[in-house]
Amino acid sequence: MIAGAPFAARALALARDAALDGLAVLAPVTCAGCGTVDRAVCGECLGALVPAPRTVTRPLPHLDAPIVVHAALEYSGAVAAVLAAFKDGGRTDAARPLARALRTAVSAALAEAVPGVSVEICTVPSTRRALRERGYAPVELLLARSGLRSAGVLRLARDRVDQAGLDEAARRVNAAGALVAARPLHGRRFLLVDDILTTGSTLAESARAVRSAGGSLAGSAVLAETPLRRIRLSANSAETPRDNGGEAGYGGRTGVVDPPFRTG
Ligand SMILES: [Zn+2]
Repeated sequence: MIAGAPFAARALALARDAALDGLAVLAPVTCAGCGTVDRAVCGECLGALVPAPRTVTRPLPHLDAPIVVHAALEYSGAVAAVLAAFKDGGRTDAARPLARALRTAVSAALAEAVPGVSVEICTVPSTRRALRERGYAPVELLLARSGLRSAGVLRLARDRVDQAGLDEAARRVNAAGALVAARPLHGRRFLLVDDILTTGSTLAESARAVRSAGGSLAGSAVLAETPLRRIRLSANSAETPRDNGGEAGYGGRTGVVDPPFRTG
């Protein structure tokens, strides 16, 4: 409930709350973020998913300039939990607040793009295995819920290598040449969009693939960014961000948050 919202909007929200509560009684669901018996995403977790747009940079030693990324959220706590449930727990019913946040980051990035030039969205392709296991491509689904669509111009150039245990330098080496454009991109301009930013190696590889096919870049946007302090924490220990327990929350076997060829 937004304080100060116009009366009509408040009334509508109350009616919607009542309708959803009715549904919850008929078919109880648990919150994708915290597990409370509530709605797909409870009020408290929804609060954590309210977009807080920021720009973050990721210095990559092999690039002249750091990557600048528009992010809607920090990848931690309820954000990480809901995103994990959405990506790997089949909780597509939690898509709405995630889509809203991603849309905010995309809008912020587009606001800084050169006006008058049409911009298409470029996403990182899921591996065939991830698509088969999930039945959907998470980023594409969130874009669709936002009324947006990926141009689908990149392909995996080779099989994904499991990134578990690889440090930043090893990920970078592993990322090189992983993606390829399916066709020439001369005269086309792209906004790179992904769900989670960690080291930035995935976006850097996407940028390389777009540019080497003749395309140009308008910027990049992600749903959530992993704070650098957490990446350093994981680099200094055998742990990975995923393994750092409840706060990181991103479940999965490999322990890798941002493989160059992400799991999906
Ligand atoms: Zn919750």
